[in-house]
Amino acid sequence: MANLWTKITSAVTRKTGSEKLPRILSRDEHPVSRKHISDSALKVMHRLRSGGFDAFLVGGGVRDLMLGKQPKDFDIATNATPEDVRQLFRNSRIIGRRFKIVHVRFGREIIEVTTYRGNHEDGNGKTAVAGESGMLLRDNVYGTLEEDAVRRDFTVNALYYCSEKFTVLDHVGGLSDLNKREVRIIGDAASRYQEDPVRMLRAVRFAAKLDFTLEARTAAPLKKLAPLLEQIPAARLFDEVLKLFMEGQALRVYALLKHYNLFRPLFPATQAVLDGDDPSAAALIEQGLVNTDTRISQNKPVTPAFLFAVMLWPVVRREMAQLQAEGIPEIPALHQAAQNCVSAQQQHTSIPKRFSMPMRDIWELQLRLPRRTGRRAQELLEHRYFRAGYDFLLLREQAGEIPEELGPWWTAFQEADEETREGMQKKIAGDRPARNNNGRRRRKPRHRNPPRSS
Ligand code: ATP
Ligand code: MG
Repeated sequence: MANLWTKITSAVTRKTGSEKLPRILSRDEHPVSRKHISDSALKVMHRLRSGGFDAFLVGGGVRDLMLGKQPKDFDIATNATPEDVRQLFRNSRIIGRRFKIVHVRFGREIIEVTTYRGNHEDGNGKTAVAGESGMLLRDNVYGTLEEDAVRRDFTVNALYYCSEKFTVLDHVGGLSDLNKREVRIIGDAASRYQEDPVRMLRAVRFAAKLDFTLEARTAAPLKKLAPLLEQIPAARLFDEVLKLFMEGQALRVYALLKHYNLFRPLFPATQAVLDGDDPSAAALIEQGLVNTDTRISQNKPVTPAFLFAVMLWPVVRREMAQLQAEGIPEIPALHQAAQNCVSAQQQHTSIPKRFSMPMRDIWELQLRLPRRTGRRAQELLEHRYFRAGYDFLLLREQAGEIPEELGPWWTAFQEADEETREGMQKKIAGDRPARNNNGRRRRKPRHRNPPRSS
């Protein structure tokens, strides 16, 4: 163990140059203050310490507070075992297999408490379990704070704050990387990605979120190791996709994912369309992500159903066109293409039913929104996912996939009074091209027009 430990720490020290580690910042040397930390997190740390254990705020909580940002959640590191923690908090439960962690719940807020993780061999025959490719399958060997620091992913994520002494502890050079605005992996990049390929996605996510650069050694193995993500369970990748694209920097994340070949393992079918010659596919995705980022910056809700509808639409649209060319009518072609696309995608990222159902509705609305005569327009307005379907239609027009016609019509229709609405519908009914679109449902023109093939 001593050998491994020396190896890891000396690697870290070497890479941080002349900097002397650990660094301990006192209260007046850093901006972290208890008033920015949730009461629940402070309570958890206080109770752990009263129980005779260590307790530190760690991870994104310290990182974001150091940068003057409000953290998304608070993680606590302790030397108490998950079982000890469970005993101290009635409102807690142990979760996770790969990493046992304890969730302590306060209403809607969850404080994540993790026991210091140690080296992979602790000399007592307790080892972490690695798969053939070096991927860690289980890692529940406990250790000291110093060991815990080097087991974390990036240096800026391995700062510890003590809410009793008000100090910030840095064992891996995270403070200097915060200053340099760099995401730097701890230890040897390739082996850390082999241990857990999701760290590659996390590298990109933090670079985008913090507007940091990826340190050269951290970025170097990404392109080559990207395919390792294919081994990650689809459910975990689904969670990661949401963190990547629904935290306000989706466009930046997307550019980095594409650059490092990391988009392909997440959405291989979409990547295949992007590799082809359909410029509207790239435009749709980029515009969709711009819109998502804008909504988040305006505190408007975003849903995974819409995100996945955007990401997979180019795939569905392509297959639907092929099926239609084989003579299958529009709606069944869409259903079949959607079915194929969703079941193929589930091999890579799961899509829970509560999102895949509305996603399919959003797609189906694209075929229904052009049909606006009679009672249909009113019925569509009352459709549960009308708003999402309409937003999706606007997005397709914005991205240049279809001409900008139907969107403005629906915008005006929603704002119009009863009488204006009737007029608008009469107008499309009397409009030759619009009538052709809906021709099959209109009896009179049907007798006059030759039957249409689709
Ligand atoms: P966010 O702002 O997304 O919450 P975070 O840094 O807090 O960012 P979490 O996923 O909440 O990220 O994880 C908390 C901490 O746990 C991280 O900062 C990091 O120290 C450690 N960690 C999380 N995932 C990994 C991983 N796959 N490998 C190593 N360390 C990890
Ligand atoms: Mg966190």
